Amino acid sequence: MAKNHKVRKLAKNRYDLDPERLASTDEFGNRVYIYPEDVKGKWKSRRTKVYWGLIFVYLILPWIYINEKPALMLNLAKREFTFLGSTLHGLEPILIFLMFISGLFFIAFITSVYGRIWCGWACPQTVFIQSIFLKIEALIEGRASQRIKLDQSKLSLEKVLKRSLKWFIYTVISLHISHTFIGYFVGPRELFAITMNAPSENLGIFIATMICTAIILLDFGWFREQFCIIACPYGRIQSVMMDSSSKVVAYDYNRGEPRTGSDSYTKESGGDCINCYHCVKVCPTGIDIRRGTQLECIACTQCIDACDAIMERVKKPSGLIRYTNEIELQNIEAKKNWRPYIYLLFLTGFLFAFFYFLDSSTKPNLVFLRGRGAPFLSSVVDGQHLITNKFTLKIKHQGTEDFPINLKILDKAAITLTLSQSPILLDEPEKKVFAFFKFDQSILINGTKKILIEVIDARTAQSISQREVTLVGPMD
Ligand code: SF4
Ligand code: SF4
Repeated sequence: MAKNHKVRKLAKNRYDLDPERLASTDEFGNRVYIYPEDVKGKWKSRRTKVYWGLIFVYLILPWIYINEKPALMLNLAKREFTFLGSTLHGLEPILIFLMFISGLFFIAFITSVYGRIWCGWACPQTVFIQSIFLKIEALIEGRASQRIKLDQSKLSLEKVLKRSLKWFIYTVISLHISHTFIGYFVGPRELFAITMNAPSENLGIFIATMICTAIILLDFGWFREQFCIIACPYGRIQSVMMDSSSKVVAYDYNRGEPRTGSDSYTKESGGDCINCYHCVKVCPTGIDIRRGTQLECIACTQCIDACDAIMERVKKPSGLIRYTNEIELQNIEAKKNWRPYIYLLFLTGFLFAFFYFLDSSTKPNLVFLRGRGAPFLSSVVDGQHLITNKFTLKIKHQGTEDFPINLKILDKAAITLTLSQSPILLDEPEKKVFAFFKFDQSILINGTKKILIEVIDARTAQSISQREVTLVGPMD
């Protein structure tokens, strides 16, 4: 009876969650704000390193210039992708699609093996909230218990000052994040120049940046775990990519139960869980991992560190909550799991297609467009009947660098080719030059002749590709 009384008392604490509803809602469906406590431990220090590495990539890398180009930029308007000083021009939609679909299959593959590792370790929302927004909140408003107290307190000067300061800093950071995000698409220097002008001069970009800032501010500062639980599409579908062999953050119920305070608990048969709720207090989505793998768990490992610290204190082995899988926990026979291999197969296929298209699209693509008006011009010079064909030559080029090319006619017949630029410098995604072919009428058969043009890299004298051109003239 005394034990039951104790359990009822424990049930009154805010971390003893109602099994019938989400941890972040009350019985009326209103939001219950989560105040995760900070934690220390090996997983936290690993994640901190990963987070700051990613913050460097997300926030600083696009502002660094290499060879006078941003380190990372996807300029959709110019169809250019710049990475570490090299630019791929004229990015075709197929390449963007293949990049995107490869990314999806990569995430599907790692999810099937390592569970929601993306959510806990690399998602920008988790990275920024854990490393920056929660840190600022703790710095200004104190530990979780102090934040709860402040939240529940009446309006006071201290409360107004703390909240204003917090939201002011949040706004500055959100502005920086949104500018960096927009900078990925227009280039940071261009964006800086744009911000120096009146907003009305670049109204579209200004509105996009402000919308982006508002979304980041509200999401990272206030909405937080609600986004993971309610809105994130990946959060909805990740469970279909996982199975009993996928790694998840899980509570070892074999070892932990019966927990202290439960009906079946006795000193002799009791499990290792001392029912301290530490794992719940640190959880950013507010869940109790002891109830099994849940959709709300973002695999952030906070509860592992929290529980390990408790286990150390009560002199029990660490790992009551750990990275594991259902096969190990339930001690069931592992079936051959083909899912990761299937994802890997698709990923390899899409990557192969990406590099194939990339390779073929980085070779200059020549298109000969016949000049307007008469298809040919005839002249007689020293009794020789000469024909001239004029073409506009369009050369699509998606390479990462500018380089010159020469054109060579692969034909025994005496044909002269005159170009409006020679060698042709490929310094833009679509280069346009004029080409004039001059030849004796006698080389034509029924008024036409097909010839091959070889494209030669002028730097190395290596042949890059060939293109067929049809010359025309009078029928007789
Ligand atoms: S249950 Fe653990 S791993 Fe999952 S979100 Fe909560 S603290 Fe993170
Ligand atoms: S932190 Fe560990 S010991 Fe404490 S309630 Fe959670 S699982 Fe049990």
